[in-house]
Amino acid sequence: MPAPVPGTVPAPAAPAPAAPDPAVPAPSGNPAPGADGARAAAAAAEAEAVRAGFLHPGGERRLGRVLPALADALGAPVHPDGGAARAVLGLPTAERVCVVLVDGLGHLNLAERSGHAPFLRSLLAGSEPLVSTVPSTTATAMGTFGTGEGPGRTAMLGYTVRDPGTGRLGNLVSWTDLPGPHAWQTVPGVLAGLAAAGVTTTSVGPARFAGSGLTEAALRGAEFVAAEGLDARVDAVARVLRRPGLAYLYWGEVDKAGHHHGWGSAAWGAALEEVDAGLRALVRRLPAGTLVVVTADHGMVDVDRALRWDAAADPRLAEGVELVAGEPRFLHLHTTPAAPGRPDVAGAVAARWRDVLGEHAVVAERDAAVEAGWFGPVDAAVRPVVGDVVVAMAGRATVVDPATQSEASLELVGVHGSRTPAEMLVPLLVVQA
Ligand SMILES: [Zn+2]
Repeated sequence: MPAPVPGTVPAPAAPAPAAPDPAVPAPSGNPAPGADGARAAAAAAEAEAVRAGFLHPGGERRLGRVLPALADALGAPVHPDGGAARAVLGLPTAERVCVVLVDGLGHLNLAERSGHAPFLRSLLAGSEPLVSTVPSTTATAMGTFGTGEGPGRTAMLGYTVRDPGTGRLGNLVSWTDLPGPHAWQTVPGVLAGLAAAGVTTTSVGPARFAGSGLTEAALRGAEFVAAEGLDARVDAVARVLRRPGLAYLYWGEVDKAGHHHGWGSAAWGAALEEVDAGLRALVRRLPAGTLVVVTADHGMVDVDRALRWDAAADPRLAEGVELVAGEPRFLHLHTTPAAPGRPDVAGAVAARWRDVLGEHAVVAERDAAVEAGWFGPVDAAVRPVVGDVVVAMAGRATVVDPATQSEASLELVGVHGSRTPAEMLVPLLVVQA
């Protein structure tokens, strides 16, 4: 597939001085080999990230605190962070909780197009967004939403990942070419904790999600109720919440419209109108006092085709790269083994990608990205799932890899995965029925 390659790409700026930015939390304790060098590289990568306007996933208001906080609200302290999370998110206690995850509904996307969402707009005023995960993609965000832990612990590191056991590319959404979900993602989930604590815990979504790999990895332990349309899901939630407990409702149509048509499209506006009306009806039908929380896994940017590179077709990008995992906005590059005379393949790959992509990406080697806390604390077993080189795209730029990405995925208009505010900020809308 021929991809237009931008003509002139500015050379990368000299590394910015590693002044600590007050908005960026101190790197989490991730001891890395060659600790001093990794720390310097992490500071340089994070300074680049700040320059690109990126958000860091490790702040106080983060997506992974929603379920721990809601468990605490229900009086079931199943996650050690629950009390602190509930205080930070400002949630009351409740006997009944409904948490709605609208896939792809970024806070900035919603705010910009809130004319299509009168109900959600009324909740938006006075709300404060949360920060999603790196990468800002469904599998990663769902893993963190479900467990309260970052992808450095859940191993849910992207749309696709390299399985260190086989060296092959696996897909965390369709759950193909991977070990079983319980073997891959070993962190206990909050929903399972709630169920074990005797709280009625129900997940409402499409039938095809029942027992799917991603559901098992992120949300296992809840009783699954299949319902296809939004009205049927609202009915199901209203039914299960006659009893106290927690109901989780997933809605995927906004994300789908965004991917195919862009978040500025009429189709996206129509999808937003539908979920807005559905959620207004939901809140009306729930028992008084039910705490309803609406959030999302990530937002979206519309791709700029003039800023799209092809990882396989450009020899400067292809050299030394054995496998490209991740997605076009956030890539994990797994490099070829070192050889005599070529001891630092990852360093050379990183340097070439920096040269080619310039200001359109932040490129970091594994130790630097881990040390800078992009993935939260990283377990030893998860470390090799992180690319030898990771690439976070700026603005609306992408790098595609026709070798590992489907033809259809290369045609997507709306994309996400990187660290821009449009992708990283998700709403936290709270209303009591
Ligand atoms: Zn998503």
